[in-house]
Amino acid sequence: MDERILITNIQRFSLHDGPGIRTNVFCKGCGLRCPWCANPENLEPRPEDYVKDGLPGTYGWYIPCEELVREVMKDELFYRQRGRGEDLDALPGGVTWSGGEALLQADRLEPAFRALKEAGIHQCVETSLFVPGNRLQLAMKYIDLFYADIKMLDGERCRTVLHGELEQYLENVKTLFGAGKPVVFRVPVIGSFTDSEANRQAAIELIKKYPPMKVELIKEHNLGQSKYASLGRTPLDLHTVTDEFLERYKEDIVMNTGVLTEVCKI
Ligand code: SF4
Repeated sequence: MDERILITNIQRFSLHDGPGIRTNVFCKGCGLRCPWCANPENLEPRPEDYVKDGLPGTYGWYIPCEELVREVMKDELFYRQRGRGEDLDALPGGVTWSGGEALLQADRLEPAFRALKEAGIHQCVETSLFVPGNRLQLAMKYIDLFYADIKMLDGERCRTVLHGELEQYLENVKTLFGAGKPVVFRVPVIGSFTDSEANRQAAIELIKKYPPMKVELIKEHNLGQSKYASLGRTPLDLHTVTDEFLERYKEDIVMNTGVLTEVCKI
């Protein structure tokens, strides 16, 4: 197990990135360029220098797979605790592979996926699903729960705005659900990008066709601004989606699909 993984952070005791208490590993590198991305330091697949408050630093470092497993297993005791609710709440804590796009490193991560599975640790992946199908299939052998985004469902907009191919995304959705994998859909609701009537209707149709365990509507936010500044880049100022709009969207999803839906504000 001598592969090296490019990561930017190992965040312990996370309560928002999957069931229970989780350790979140942020993998660096993503094929998309969502204009609202809150993690600009996780996009380039190489370490990047930055300057923050006048002090230089580097985003990202390579960690051997074995060392990464040792690091996340330090929190093993927390992973074993289960919640007392139903569905997602009843699942144990564990490790969440996040990013960036963790699945782009799926082949190098495989020994870690396998080691954690053998140790009985619950694993989630947060993914855009804009990844080669073989990386997804590899991860599906080990991952217990997928947090998959629904961003834009118009092929042209995907290509020009996100730099991704809708066909690849839809094929991966089909693969995941065809295999009966547990999925939570995360839907970033971003003014002028994903909030149009047409995109919302398309998202509802997708949810109806592929009912997940849950839908999470994610409200736009500007939390990544200092990281953009540290990289010498100017972020978008996002502030047009209201709470009322999100509640109406949530009601539309529930009414049309019957799927449990939550509004998540970060
Ligand atoms: S998929 Fe996620 S990490 Fe990649 S650009 Fe979009 S928001 Fe950022």
